[in-house]
Amino acid sequence: MMKTIKNHQIRIYKLLLIYYSPNDLIPAVYITLNKVAADYLNVEAGVGEALILKTMSEAYSRTESSIKQDLQQIEDLGIIAENCSCKMRTIFPLPRLTIQSVFNELKSIPNLSGSNSQQKKREVIKKLLISAKTGEAKYIVRFLQQRLRIGVNSASVLQALAYAFILTRPEIPKDILEKGKKMNEELKREKLRSALCELPNIELIIQNLLNGDDMNTLNKKCTVKPGIPVQPMLAKPTKGVQEVLDRFNNVTFTCEYKYDGERAQIHYIDKDNIKIFSRNLETMTEKYPDVIQIVKDQINENATGCIIDSEVVAYDIENKKILPFQVLTTRKRKDVDIENIKVKICLFPFDLICCNNVSIIKEPLEIRRKLLYSLLKCKEGVLVYAIHSEMNNIEDMDTFLQDAIENNCEGLMVKTLLENASYEPSRRSLNWLKVKKDYVEGLSDSVDLVPIAGYYGKGKRSGVYGAFVLATYNSETENFQTVCKAGTGFSDENLNTLYELLNDKIIPNKKSYYEVSDKLNPDVWFDAHYVWEVKAADLSLSPVHTAAIGVYDDDKGIGLRFPRFLRLREDKNAEQATTSQQIVDFYEAQFTSNKNKNDYNDES
Ligand code: ATP
Repeated sequence: MMKTIKNHQIRIYKLLLIYYSPNDLIPAVYITLNKVAADYLNVEAGVGEALILKTMSEAYSRTESSIKQDLQQIEDLGIIAENCSCKMRTIFPLPRLTIQSVFNELKSIPNLSGSNSQQKKREVIKKLLISAKTGEAKYIVRFLQQRLRIGVNSASVLQALAYAFILTRPEIPKDILEKGKKMNEELKREKLRSALCELPNIELIIQNLLNGDDMNTLNKKCTVKPGIPVQPMLAKPTKGVQEVLDRFNNVTFTCEYKYDGERAQIHYIDKDNIKIFSRNLETMTEKYPDVIQIVKDQINENATGCIIDSEVVAYDIENKKILPFQVLTTRKRKDVDIENIKVKICLFPFDLICCNNVSIIKEPLEIRRKLLYSLLKCKEGVLVYAIHSEMNNIEDMDTFLQDAIENNCEGLMVKTLLENASYEPSRRSLNWLKVKKDYVEGLSDSVDLVPIAGYYGKGKRSGVYGAFVLATYNSETENFQTVCKAGTGFSDENLNTLYELLNDKIIPNKKSYYEVSDKLNPDVWFDAHYVWEVKAADLSLSPVHTAAIGVYDDDKGIGLRFPRFLRLREDKNAEQATTSQQIVDFYEAQFTSNKNKNDYNDES
């Protein structure tokens, strides 16, 4: 049922896109994506709820408290705006909002700064709300809340764009349009997706398409560029060395230490222009002036236009030891004075994406690695290439994994070296497999969950939250579904910090898009904002939790057993949390491995 609604929404959206004039296309796409600029430019498209409430009260001549009262029942400020807008009477007819005018206003909001910036923002929003027709007001408010909820995500946008450009390009022969439309659309969508992973700026991509580029020219032009972050390649989890060997049967592969720090994509444009981006494509240049200095000192004199993929790790220089990830998190993020950095780091580069302004993502890892090794000079405790070794039997791999763990690494990354060994931006690729040291402890990988509710602590935990309801993200329905109640793994310090952070995210009621069973009755609800890494023993069908409900049983979801908090993931937002579909995959994988175990036991 859900799928049908979604397909229907996408179909309508596809049709809408082809009717937009070229000038409307970029605003339409940005508005659908609930953005005003490419992610890596870090432009915040939303505003706080307090500001929206105040503006609505001014625009609709209502008191804030009466709007808040409505909110208790309706739970959606957008719908309240729509209701208010229905009742509003204006003396003079107001000009109709156009997609471009709305987008320009929304885009102007983040740039309003200075002493009375809040007032200026309210003025812009008020103007929009007063001119808005009923449904428009709903979506303007939801846009500002960063909760558009129209069932169209970035994958659907690409699908719709591909469709729009097939139907509007005159050189496409009619027979292809008729017979091969579906196939052609899929191909175009894949090409668009790949362009967007390499150059995550939809505006530049649409601009090129509007200028008449076909998809092949687009793929050539819209490729990695120093200065613009690339969606990083990701790894598939495995249950251990044996699974790696099964998967990489007859394939040449390499094993690298998996360092436990922060991913850093370093863009070396020239000596005076070096940028660092996080796994999430956010700018980290200010956070790591020491990394910038290391790159400046160690890079080859003639280098230009390079993108280096690496891990920044906290390092104890005296004892020549890698320090745990938690130590790295104690570093300041802004205004870091290079002279006063207490937590020192060592940089571990492991890949090269661009070299001399030329993308090398299609080259195999062996070549990329050679180019990387010729780019930077190593220096102990400062810059060291990810330690690697080539082997193909379980004993050697077990020993190497043991070495990695003894050297305070998280495990191994095992990567194809020659065939099928290109750099695949944004893909969780089967060509990169991760073996974590704790795979023996239960689930092969940790999960990233969103705290959506809390229980007040008792006894030793009074004054903070003692337990939390954690949720997965259902990307199909855009809902958060509960997967466990977690109360272990937290230090006292963690609990205090999380209490402070979450108190800023308290909401009066459960959001309508949280799917929660009546059997859970937490004390406080939180906005879906933070992401926590959690480890669990295993997964089981649960009558209490709603993650993947209906997949195996109409009344049961999947729940995590014995969940343990590991850390706050500051590099992910709530919609990048583990999805309910991934939970199904984990559940099935576990079933397969248990079945194998049972088979083995039966035989023995
Ligand atoms: P996921 O997106 O799978 O949840 P994650 O961000 O939780 O990933 P991990 O699953 O732990 O990260 O593994 C991938 C990460 O490991 C990379 O993003 C990178 O930061 C880190 N890493 C450390 N050493 C290496 C290496 N040698 N090669 C690639 N990545 C490495």
